Amino acid sequence: MIPYAKHHLDEDDIQAVCEALKSDFLTTGSAVHSFETALADFVGCAHAVAVSSGTAALHCAMYALGIAPGDEVIVPSMTFAATANCVAYMGATPVFADVDPHTLLMNHESVSDKITTHTKAIITVDYAGQTCDYEKLKSLAKRHSLALVADSCHALGATDRGQKAGSIADINIFSFHPAKHITTGEGGVATTNNPNFAKRMRTFRTHGIDVSAEERQQTGDWFYQMVDLGNNYRITDIQCALGISQLKKLPQFLERRRDIASTYDEAFSNANSITPLLTRKDVAHAYHLYVVRIDFENLGTTRKAVVTALRDKGIGTNVHYIPVHLHPYYKREHGTHEGMCPVAEKVYEEILSLPIFGTLPLDQVQYIANSLINIVQK
Ligand SMILES: *Cc1c(COP(=O)(O)O)cnc(C)c1O
Repeated sequence: MIPYAKHHLDEDDIQAVCEALKSDFLTTGSAVHSFETALADFVGCAHAVAVSSGTAALHCAMYALGIAPGDEVIVPSMTFAATANCVAYMGATPVFADVDPHTLLMNHESVSDKITTHTKAIITVDYAGQTCDYEKLKSLAKRHSLALVADSCHALGATDRGQKAGSIADINIFSFHPAKHITTGEGGVATTNNPNFAKRMRTFRTHGIDVSAEERQQTGDWFYQMVDLGNNYRITDIQCALGISQLKKLPQFLERRRDIASTYDEAFSNANSITPLLTRKDVAHAYHLYVVRIDFENLGTTRKAVVTALRDKGIGTNVHYIPVHLHPYYKREHGTHEGMCPVAEKVYEEILSLPIFGTLPLDQVQYIANSLINIVQK
């Protein structure tokens, strides 16, 4: 079975973890700092705060911005629920913006329409691995004095007009879940050029305590103060040792992901019932996902039938995503409903994510593309 996503670990990744297991620190030690420095260098940002998941990093970002009950934060509907959940954690209201049907990136007019006097921030999502048009989004945010957070969990290694994802928004988020570009098992990071945001996120990561246990150990000082209500969102040295080792392989994983995407693009260029998403000008795409649109209904079939036929050929697929505003929690607690984001709702019926990962061989990509074309044309 070819899965839709898969991590890749080498012997040197395993070695790195074994060394961390033999060191003095299992949790916050030198590997956390080294991983943060390596990530900050990679994305070209001053500060990186590594935490236990991408979701935790999003929550840290909302805390850093001081999002509170009564505030509204605009998020795209076409994303993983965590993008919106971090707003709800603060007792604030996520407001769902619609997306562009060809890229599934947030639609600027829709964002603009949703801005009210309560709006405090916009969270963008670099859907599938291409960056949003940040020139437009930044000027919109600036005009309304809103903070801009980029959920770049799909876009490690992507660029917008040459600027790397991770250095573009006020705070930028990545995940190291095994389905993402590189993994730490579970893990995430928030990057920022704002030292105050970085400090607040470090405090929130460790119970709302204003100095790290490690700093206290160095000074021999037992004194600490909990200045705010935080969490234990720490990532371990064991995980960061893996992250440092994985980050070295990122360029080769990215290259393969881009080769896979161009192999699919080429294969589907003559199959008019299969429409890959469009890539914006001025971006380097990181291809976390490879998503196609198929008008199943028009072809007299269903997505379920196509998914089953692919599975019978040993091909795993997935759907990214059920529009977040259609989940029962949001309908019940935030009064969302069908019709709020018509483009996301319609495109949701048509999307399918095909296998893509850093070690997927190109002959298998060809096999997947041919299989899909045959199934759809039947
Ligand atoms: C993976 C992902 C997250 C959450 O990351 P975790 O590390 O699984 O918590 C958030 N947003 C998007 C868009 C993601 O793809």
